Amino acid sequence: MMKPFDIAIVGGGLVGLTLVRALQPALTAGARLVVIDPAPKPTHQAPQSPSFDDRATALSAYSCLALSRLGLGEPVERYSSAIRWIEVSDRGHAGYQVMDAAHHSDGAFGRVIANAALGQILWQGVQSLPGADWYFGTRVQQIKPGQTNSTLKLDNGETLSARLIILCDGGRSPLTEQLGIGHTQRNYNARAVIATARTEQPHAGRAYERFTESGPIALLPFGDFSALVWTIPARLEKRFQALNENDRLTLLNQHFGQRLGRITELGPLTGYPLQRRTATELVRHRLLVLGNAAATLHPVAGQGFNLALRSVLRTATVLNQHLILGEDAGAIGPLHALAAAIQADQSVTAGFSDTLVRSFGSARPWLQLGRTLGLNALDRHPLLGRSFALASMGLLQGAPLPHPEPTLATDGLMSP
Ligand SMILES: Cc1cc2nc3c(=O)[nH]c(=O)nc-3n(C[C@H](O)[C@H](O)[C@H](O)COP(=O)(O)OP(=O)(O)OC[C@H]3O[C@@H](n4cnc5c(N)ncnc54)[C@H](O)[C@@H]3O)c2cc1C
Repeated sequence: MMKPFDIAIVGGGLVGLTLVRALQPALTAGARLVVIDPAPKPTHQAPQSPSFDDRATALSAYSCLALSRLGLGEPVERYSSAIRWIEVSDRGHAGYQVMDAAHHSDGAFGRVIANAALGQILWQGVQSLPGADWYFGTRVQQIKPGQTNSTLKLDNGETLSARLIILCDGGRSPLTEQLGIGHTQRNYNARAVIATARTEQPHAGRAYERFTESGPIALLPFGDFSALVWTIPARLEKRFQALNENDRLTLLNQHFGQRLGRITELGPLTGYPLQRRTATELVRHRLLVLGNAAATLHPVAGQGFNLALRSVLRTATVLNQHLILGEDAGAIGPLHALAAAIQADQSVTAGFSDTLVRSFGSARPWLQLGRTLGLNALDRHPLLGRSFALASMGLLQGAPLPHPEPTLATDGLMSP
């Protein structure tokens, strides 16, 4: 069997690839890692993982800064749209909250980027790093924890071993279950329907989060379009998808109201199941769980990747220190402290989006009154209101930032 890797990353999606990039200092210092993903081998330009599908991701200002510290700031800025203004409102109720980034340090609360573009940027940023091996078109079937190394059985018949295995295999992988790691789960019985949307007026950097009785609707600036995320009860999805374009637009405009004029056109619709799923353990001997495998959130507040990125940075800070000194990456002591910090962040973030969904998704009169009063009260307390509006779009929070890296050369990265 070949020499053990220092780290094996199971899953080369958004989180797995960001982690590889964040581990660049250790790789440059001679550490070895392997990434395994069942998605087909990437083209020269882009990975094929389902992580990089038609969705758009709202990156908080903090996440933008973090990606910039990882040397990816220039392409992220080039291929994303700035969020310069935010409105959070509640359909049929008076309360709403507005924020303008005019006085914000870089004039933006965050940026919205196509997952496909982010995938390209990440892939270009990791594909030729020293010390990284790639197994695409390959699934990890089984993990066996061991005393000095853990082993991974692949579906191509090979067995790999690593001092530390990091699960970044998303919210639906059976691997955590196979290992007996428990989950707490809440099913929202809802689907997030996403599409690009054309509006009568250009978005000019405006982002909207509107809570309606059937679920929240987010409209985010996205190049020449806006990116729509509409949460609807699961039982209505088929009926919604079966509507003709005109009826669908009428329904959407009724719920969303006249913001940026009418929504006049929608791109193809894709639906995603919504649930909150949190792993009860993030760390075991020679094992760490990150990303959606650790916590899958309702996307109402666009928090999933922003939360995961903070965990990735925390993890990279610890692992880079150990690996650069030639220490064992799977040593359990530092991993416990790391997992505690990640879990604390997760529980605040997941709790917040859960509260948003439950209180703003409710037709119960006392909750309605409370939320209207709440939004109005927030309006009278600018600092509180600012935090609420930022948090409701996943644009709040922080963690240690990595040291600056040289900017990634992006010539020919993507056609504009
Ligand atoms: C509609 C929607 C909108 C969202 N909007 C936002 C937003 O605006 N902002 C935000 O911060 N977050 C957002 N999120 C959340 C964000 O998309 C997720 O947090 C993020 O995709 C998690 O990435 P991941 O790499 O952990 O998991 P995934 O994206 O699920 O990737 C998992 C990877 O693991 C691989 N894999 C699976 N099984 C195996 C195996 N056995 N062996 C090896 N590899 C395996 C898969 O092929 C895949 O490449 C949104 C989510 C949804 C559904």
